[in-house]
Amino acid sequence: MPLQAPSLKGHEFLAEVLRRVKESVEVTRVGDDYYEFLKYPKVQLTVSIPVKMRDGSVKTFVGYRVQHNNARGPYKGGIRYYPTTDLDEVTALAMLMTYKCAVVDLPYGGAKGGVQCNPKELNRDELERITRRYTYMIADIIGPYKDIPAPDVYTDAQVMAWLMDTYSQIVGKLTPEVVTGKPVALGGSEGREEATGLGVAIGAREAVKALNMGMKGIRVAVEGFGNVGSYAALYLHSWGAKVVAVSDSKGAVYKPEGLNVPALIEHKRRTGTVLGFDGAKAITHEELLHLDVEVLIPSAIEGTINAKTVDGIKAKVISEGANGPTTSDADGVLREKGVFVVPDILANAGGVTVSYFEWVQNLKREKWPKEEVLSRMEAKLVKAFQDVIGTARKYEVDNRSAAFCLSVERVCEAIRLLGIWP
Ligand code: NAD
Repeated sequence: MPLQAPSLKGHEFLAEVLRRVKESVEVTRVGDDYYEFLKYPKVQLTVSIPVKMRDGSVKTFVGYRVQHNNARGPYKGGIRYYPTTDLDEVTALAMLMTYKCAVVDLPYGGAKGGVQCNPKELNRDELERITRRYTYMIADIIGPYKDIPAPDVYTDAQVMAWLMDTYSQIVGKLTPEVVTGKPVALGGSEGREEATGLGVAIGAREAVKALNMGMKGIRVAVEGFGNVGSYAALYLHSWGAKVVAVSDSKGAVYKPEGLNVPALIEHKRRTGTVLGFDGAKAITHEELLHLDVEVLIPSAIEGTINAKTVDGIKAKVISEGANGPTTSDADGVLREKGVFVVPDILANAGGVTVSYFEWVQNLKREKWPKEEVLSRMEAKLVKAFQDVIGTARKYEVDNRSAAFCLSVERVCEAIRLLGIWP
């Protein structure tokens, strides 16, 4: 089955990330030398992964692990399995992880991994063999105090379990803290499933508060009713907001009086789509984006808020669940319209924050209850939100630039204190 191609090619994505970092170095005046330092990843490892396929043939896959910067702590970042993944894309994503971890003030640097493969064409045994051989090939550079991988696109808790087991066999002791996003039975954290969606809902709630609006009855539209979107909708619904529209890849539904979110989640689980939900009217993807709502939550794929769709947007707040849902030209239009944007590296950082808590629990051989995990996460995200707003005021920039400025300052401060050796 073909997979949807990303909207930006790897080298374009990397250029976009570097442009943002350069701009932040200039705005914050940390010194041009820091850009010279930050524009290169510390390590780029390319590996070949020969795998015996189900028909007895051997196929070699290409894998990457890129470590961008570890001035603030061990490298951290997911591993994606995707046919078009390349070194530039993985490098750009590793850089984004450096800044995402810094914006929520986690003691981590940034990394990313990828294997060029189409997981939809692989069976479970082939996926396991790819994962184990890939882990073996990167085992020297990962580790609980070096680099801690996690799931990303088309990798899940099972893949992390194989990675953990392979690494543990190599080093000769069970090492759950080498990876996060594991099954709960193997040391995964309670609360990981809802963490990102809750974080996106918290971003929306704090933005609504900053605009002196109340939560009661505010209208919300959610694009992409998957893991992130459905939990964001569920939390906003439980706080008194009116979720009037949601969508998935098959279409969108709208009910001006507000959707019963728990019942809609059950409907999606049963039928595989939000379409056909009782009392809701079918609308198009674009109509959802253009609804008269206070809050819009893009939590599907990248680039849906673009030059074509941005003009009709009426929301006052956008909390970005997806990675990169807004293109840079659309960003300028949102700024002119005065939309309060909670940028992706802040809004969807709940996931990596709970990953950090998983690592801490593993290192301390502890298990925290879900309420504790989520309330600690909330405290971190609310503090990060306030820090970003403060930075936006300080430099008179929009929230997205502010999130980058804040994280670039934090990373550069660590680099300055460590010095460049020798
Ligand atoms: P998911 O696969 O669970 O859900 C994605 C949903 O979007 C699905 O319901 C799908 O049908 C829908 N969709 C796809 N194309 C669409 C379109 N064009 N219009 C409307 N809906 C569409 O994925 P997820 O884990 O919820 O991730 C969603 C986004 O959030 C991705 O960009 C991901 O990178 C980002 N993200 C996820 C996490 C996490 O912890 N899951 C963390 C950070 C960022």
